[in-house]
Amino acid sequence: MLLDIWYDRWLLDSPLIEVVPTNDPPHMLLVEFYGDGGWKVSQLKSWLPDPLVQQIQKVDLYPNQDHHMVWAVSPSGLFTTKSAWDLIRQKRIPSLLDDLLWSNVVPLKMSFLAWKVVRNLIPVETNLKKRGIPMASRCLCCLSHEETLGHLFVMGPVATEVWGIFQRRFGILEPQPFLVSGVFSLWFGSSPAIMRGHIRTIIPILIFWFIWKSRNRARFDGICLEACGVVSSIASFVEQLGLANKLSKRLFRGDYEDPWAQLGVCLARHIEVTVVSWKRPPQFYVKLNTDGSVTQNRAYRGGLLRDSDGRLLFAFHKEFGDIDVLGTESLALLHGLRLCTGLVTGSLLVEVESKSLVRLLQAGGVEVAVVQYIKEHKQSFCFIVGVPFACGKRSKLCGR
Ligand SMILES: [Zn+2]
Repeated sequence: MLLDIWYDRWLLDSPLIEVVPTNDPPHMLLVEFYGDGGWKVSQLKSWLPDPLVQQIQKVDLYPNQDHHMVWAVSPSGLFTTKSAWDLIRQKRIPSLLDDLLWSNVVPLKMSFLAWKVVRNLIPVETNLKKRGIPMASRCLCCLSHEETLGHLFVMGPVATEVWGIFQRRFGILEPQPFLVSGVFSLWFGSSPAIMRGHIRTIIPILIFWFIWKSRNRARFDGICLEACGVVSSIASFVEQLGLANKLSKRLFRGDYEDPWAQLGVCLARHIEVTVVSWKRPPQFYVKLNTDGSVTQNRAYRGGLLRDSDGRLLFAFHKEFGDIDVLGTESLALLHGLRLCTGLVTGSLLVEVESKSLVRLLQAGGVEVAVVQYIKEHKQSFCFIVGVPFACGKRSKLCGR
């Protein structure tokens, strides 16, 4: 009620001052246009064109109800920076390569180095020359080539020998790739059991790390860069991972015959349990439970209807595109209500998980499809909304 009719965004996506051609209108609050009998139509018409006035008349205000700010993209209705970031960031299809580079098995610095190798961000000598540092570049693996990223990490004699040893160890018989991206494709595609942290995702990361470390020792400490040194460093590191219980058995799926698989331990999976309960509706009532969820740009909705004996009357599930959480919850409810029409003749209890949606339904003034549907079918069933049990606590049911 204390919104400014011209300058606040309350009816359309933009303030009315940007929609209605008018010169510097005074600040006026909604409350000035709303009385005991509802909207003061003649007063609205003196400022606004008829189509807008008609649209305003469809908006119900509840002057005695507390006002809540609702952040529509989070299920709780509360603002979080995470949900704001999810809203504005550009979402792209996740890259399998980038996904598999990160795991909690190897230290972050190793994954980060591999990530930099993929993007040619390592300060090998040819990259330093490109950045304007004058030098005569000579690699440390054969002393007969410029130090390029590809030569040092993939094609040079040391790199070729190291990759060859590990390819043979894991039965990867394809020819050795010439590019960094080819190495990852080969290793990450070499087993159907590949998952984040799998030994075949760890090995390429370790090879890049220990080649780079050995190269730096050679460059700065004068210690010879040799394949055997790189291989033994990798072997002792994998053994240390095993001693530290960082390697679980499942990370060796498909490679149980490898001696390193003995290092895998059966780690107990951490499962978080949340107590959820469902209460039967009173006699002659039926209860509709709906829920929507959004994960990785995909939205899912589902629901079910049960009678007072707990018998299932129907259940549904649907997948659809990129929609925010509140939109998904509303569509789940709308779908459930549509299925109820004609089937439910008595009293219907509805439980949804989103408190924001319950608030929207109580306020009724928001033009979302489900509110419109409820308005149109108000006579069809007695309708009560609430949120379901969780952790033994119950939010109050709200009559309508
Ligand atoms: Zn070389």
